[in-house]
Amino acid sequence: MSYALEINNLKKVYSGGTEALKGISLKVNEGDFYALLGPNGAGKSSTIGIIGTLVTKTAGNVKIFGIDIDEDVAIAKSMLGVVSQEINFSQFEKVIDIVTTQAGFYGIKKSLAKPKVENMLKRLSLWDKRNDQARTLSGGYKRRLMIAKALIHEPKLLILDEPTAGVDIELRREMWTFLKEINTNGTTIILTTHYLEEAEQLCRNIGIIDQGQIVIDTSMRDLLSKLDVQGFVLDLEEPLDKAPAIDNYSLRLDDPLTLVTAINKDSSINKLFDELNKLNIKVKSMRNESNRLEELFIEMIKK
Ligand code: ADP
Repeated sequence: MSYALEINNLKKVYSGGTEALKGISLKVNEGDFYALLGPNGAGKSSTIGIIGTLVTKTAGNVKIFGIDIDEDVAIAKSMLGVVSQEINFSQFEKVIDIVTTQAGFYGIKKSLAKPKVENMLKRLSLWDKRNDQARTLSGGYKRRLMIAKALIHEPKLLILDEPTAGVDIELRREMWTFLKEINTNGTTIILTTHYLEEAEQLCRNIGIIDQGQIVIDTSMRDLLSKLDVQGFVLDLEEPLDKAPAIDNYSLRLDDPLTLVTAINKDSSINKLFDELNKLNIKVKSMRNESNRLEELFIEMIKK
């Protein structure tokens, strides 16, 4: 069986000299829902740009369902839909025309395109807006329009670059439901995100990329089971301008009144309170940080 995506030793050096990818290799199984996670500047968009042939690679190869993009780009691309971060449609066209034109690019006949476009716009709650100019849509609906455009030729592999960045919580959850549904129906999905909750909710497997290298490539379940830290959010009585440094504890200031910590199973929260007390930092209340993946991520990035 071939993989939905197979990347070997992919390198990218931008013209200014930035080494964005230092030879990454990845395999994504057919039917998978895979998260590519990493901090800003890690190389996620560069990777996606190369897969979608918008960015030229410096070295390495990319296969989509066994087809090397260097050997048969048209066939490879017919199996791929990419939703990038940048708007990729004319803002002055109508929603329905944008998706219909895209169907035309893939040789879908007008008679066939019509019901397909209607179905896609309905599934993405865009049907009522079909005659609106794209520029009048909110950010979340523009993102949906890009998804409709990417899916109209029914690609077997869908790649989304931060699909829910800047999208409000309700639309985000709707989008999750939609993506889960098309994955269940057979579409392999890869998404990049730095919303860790998103990866935890949706994805079966996960790759973490940092500074142009894959640092973790595993199943979500394994990753979470390795977790031996628990996160706490401390609400402070008085504002701080930076997180205090306390030996053996990682502390992050989310805002002047909110201190976040990830505590190892073998460290004590009481000891932390003692140390904070010594520094005259008073905690008003405390709650559990619910996102375990995020704690892991904080731990990992510190290493
Ligand atoms: P991510 O998507 O994970 O935030 P990117 O792939 O966008 O990471 O960026 C990886 C690195 O490559 C960063 O250092 C970024 O500044 C650099 N980079 C990205 N695009 C370009 C470009 N067009 N020209 C030069 N450098 C770039």
